[in-house]
Amino acid sequence: EPQPEKPQAEKPGLIGRLLGRDENTRVVDDAMLESLEELLIQSDMGVETSLKVTANIAEGRMGRRVTTSEIKGALAAEVARIMEPVARPLPLYPQKPQVVLVVGVNGSGKTTTIGKLASQFKAAGKNVVIAAGDTFRAAAVEQLQVWGKRAGVPVLTAAEGSDPASLAFDALTRAQAEGADLLMIDTAGRLQNRADLMEELAKIVRVLRKVDPSAPHNTLLVLDATTGQNALTQVEIFRKIADVSGLVMTKLDGTARGGVLVALADKFGLPIHAIGVGEQIDDLAPFDPEDFAKALVG
Ligand code: GDP
Repeated sequence: EPQPEKPQAEKPGLIGRLLGRDENTRVVDDAMLESLEELLIQSDMGVETSLKVTANIAEGRMGRRVTTSEIKGALAAEVARIMEPVARPLPLYPQKPQVVLVVGVNGSGKTTTIGKLASQFKAAGKNVVIAAGDTFRAAAVEQLQVWGKRAGVPVLTAAEGSDPASLAFDALTRAQAEGADLLMIDTAGRLQNRADLMEELAKIVRVLRKVDPSAPHNTLLVLDATTGQNALTQVEIFRKIADVSGLVMTKLDGTARGGVLVALADKFGLPIHAIGVGEQIDDLAPFDPEDFAKALVG
C-alpha cells in the first residue's frame, strides 16, 4: 500500500523560499535580513521570536558573503536551540495510576490524541483507562469509545449531561482498584463560556485530589498546529483555566507551517510531549527538534 504523499516534504522550507533551492551565495545585508524576518513571521514564528532569531543569524555575518547552506544551517541551529529544551516525552511517574487530564478546544484533536497515546502506552505494557469527561457531547463520547476499541483500552462513560467531576471521581477510584498504570481523562473544549469551563475543570481537579492528592499528574493541552497564531492565544487562555503541564501539537502532517511551535517554545517553554502526524492510531510521534528544524528550514 503506497503511503499518501506528504506535501510538506516536497515544499521548500523557509530558506528554500528565501534563497532558492539551489546552492548559492549572497551578501548578508539589511534587505536580506528583512526578507528573512518577514518569512519567519509568515511562518507563524511570532514577531518577537522572529526578530530575535534574525538578529542571532546576522551576528558576525553582516556584509559577509555566505552560502545558502550556511544560512540554512544557522537557522536550523537557532530553531533547534529553542526547541531542544521543550522536546520531552510524557514523563511516566511511579504513582499508580498516573492521572493525565487532557484539555483543549473542540476539534484540536483531543480524542484522537487520547486514542493514540492509549495505544502507545498499551503497547508498552501499561494498563490504561480512559474517562470520557466531555459528558455534554454525545458525539465526543462515541468517538472516544471508537478509539478505545481500536487501542484495546476501556473507556468509562457517564450519562449524557452528567457531572464530569463525578465521572472523574468514579474513574480514578476504579482505575486505582484495578491497579491501572494510567488514567487519561478527556474534558470539554467549549471556550464560549470560559468561566463555566474553568469551574468544570477546577471541580474535576478538586474531586480527583480527594482520591489522590497528587492528581492530576499531567495536564496536557492539545493544540492544532494549523491554527497558527491562535495556538498561542489558546495556551494563554488554558494556562489561566488549568495548570497546563505540557503540549501535544496535532496536524503537523498537513501543510501547517509549524513556525508556531517555535513561538510557543520561545514564549512559554512548555514541554512538547508528542506531535500528531496523521489521523491513524500510529500517527503520534515524539517531537524531534533537529528533524523539525531541518524540515522547517529546508
Ligand atoms: P477533539 O474535538 O479535540 O476531540 O478533536 P478530534 O480528536 O475529534 O479531531 C478533530 C479532527 O482532527 C478529526 O477529523 C481528526 O481525525 C483530525 N486529527 C486529529 N489529529 C490529527 C493529526 O495529527 N493529523 C491530521 N491530519 N488530522 C488530525
